[in-house]
Amino acid sequence: MQMEKLVSLCRRRGFMFQSSEIYGGLNGFWDYGPLGVNLKRNIKNAWWHDMVTAHDELTAPAGAPTPYEMTGLDCTIIMHPQVWKCSGHYDLFHDLMVDCRQSNRRYRHDQVRGRWVEAKGQRIFVATVVETSEEVDDVTRRALKFFNLRAKNADDLAWDGDFVSLETIDDMSQVLGPDAKELGTLTEPREFNLMFKTIVGAMGSERDAAFLRPETAQGIFVNFKNVLDSTRVRVPFGIAQIGKSFRNEITPRNFTFRSREFEQMEIEFFCHPDSSQGWYKFWRDRRMRWYTELGLAGERLILREHGEEERSHYSRGTSDVEYAFPFLPKGEYGELEGIAHRGDFDLRSHMEGKLDENSPGLEVQLGEDGKPKYRGSGRDLTYRDDLSGEKYVPHVIEPSAGADRATLAFLCEAYTEDEVPDEKGKLQTRTVMKLHPRIAPIKAAVFPLVKKDGMPEIARDIYRAIKQQMPAFYDEKGAVGRRYRRQDEAGTPYCITVDGDTLKDNTVTIRDRDTLEQWRVKVDDCVSEISQRVK
Ligand code: ATP
Repeated sequence: MQMEKLVSLCRRRGFMFQSSEIYGGLNGFWDYGPLGVNLKRNIKNAWWHDMVTAHDELTAPAGAPTPYEMTGLDCTIIMHPQVWKCSGHYDLFHDLMVDCRQSNRRYRHDQVRGRWVEAKGQRIFVATVVETSEEVDDVTRRALKFFNLRAKNADDLAWDGDFVSLETIDDMSQVLGPDAKELGTLTEPREFNLMFKTIVGAMGSERDAAFLRPETAQGIFVNFKNVLDSTRVRVPFGIAQIGKSFRNEITPRNFTFRSREFEQMEIEFFCHPDSSQGWYKFWRDRRMRWYTELGLAGERLILREHGEEERSHYSRGTSDVEYAFPFLPKGEYGELEGIAHRGDFDLRSHMEGKLDENSPGLEVQLGEDGKPKYRGSGRDLTYRDDLSGEKYVPHVIEPSAGADRATLAFLCEAYTEDEVPDEKGKLQTRTVMKLHPRIAPIKAAVFPLVKKDGMPEIARDIYRAIKQQMPAFYDEKGAVGRRYRRQDEAGTPYCITVDGDTLKDNTVTIRDRDTLEQWRVKVDDCVSEISQRVK
């Protein structure tokens, strides 16, 4: 599937729009249209339902060491600045970037690639940020221009090796930046903190600086004690939160995949250190299964365990659920969700503002005087088991998912072009979004075959009855075949048509979006039939 086709469908049918489009858009920000808002909400609701509300805390699910409880939270986006100092984000949440002195553009160091080339006795590195499929053309065009060669002399360019990351280049003076005309205009890589800064209150001084949260997780950690004290939850238990997060990504791209404002669905699961590895494995598999149950099955979805060198300093195990997004080079996957064993790093940081000597990571929070750089809350965030009397800092397993990346993956997976016969039996290509009925924005569309003989009245009654239970759509305009096509593009799993037979025997046809199968049901059974099928 070509990504451009999906992007254009998303815009045309109202799944997604560029934010502030009438003013030219704002890079890294996206709006969800009338269909998209339902789709994303259904995904978030499915997550909350499956992870929190419908979770059975009395029975241990398959693979879980014991039964467990789940509860929820909704925290603020702006929190006390100290939260980010103790969490490590203030010092460590950065990407390396390079600036171009000529074009005034900024790039993420790891996202610039390029190739060495030699001509006219000079060897240079031509850098690009153009997507993989077009990068060859881009560097060739720019190398020709740099050496003042014509396209027909492309053979004069002696390429040396394949594309490599800018990270492999030590000497920037030989680099032709992605938008530069001369060599050596890129700066050395510099750290760039990804948190958005803002000012709280009217004074507007640096002392009032605060940050938009770059993840929802910290709100859960700082409320750990509140949840314990206000409920009767016992370890093991999880706290879930869905909410917006903000990261000032240097190069937002690939549609909504890397945005600057996005939504996360996170769980912090608190358990006893001794059983934490078992819980880590449980959550890794449970989360992977969630995606497959909603239709991301097949080889495009993988669970990838990180190697030790790739893990954060505090992590004792990390796996990513990854999806082969169509905009990525063949064989590459993009992260949908990370499941990390974070040990007691977070609770301990918020408690002490430092880590004990057994926990790696201590070095990052020490000031020049060797003392902890930031003071923690000083609150006791240990857990006391009222049955055994044991007191400990729970370990944490964190399944951290992105609602927008999940939405994008479900859209990519759903996009299908197939051939179906039209009314005259001729094969026509149709575009159909094969979204799982549970997340489809509209569950059923109701059509009168023609706009007369009382058919619209019956159809409207059916539509109103369905609408009380789930999102439905009524359409009486144009040929019925075209109405089907529009619903196929919207991903509506069922279309109900009121026709001549309805007037005689009080039945309607239901058409299945994927199989195109049609069958008749009694008008009175419509709602229950659709409800059962979209569960
Ligand atoms: P990446 O390496 O792709 O930047 P990450 O490892 O920094 O992602 P986490 O900090 O683990 O991501 O965040 C958890 C989840 O939040 C990710 O798996 C992803 O689904 C989502 N997410 C993170 N950054 C973004 C973003 N810029 N745009 C959209 N979703 C994001």
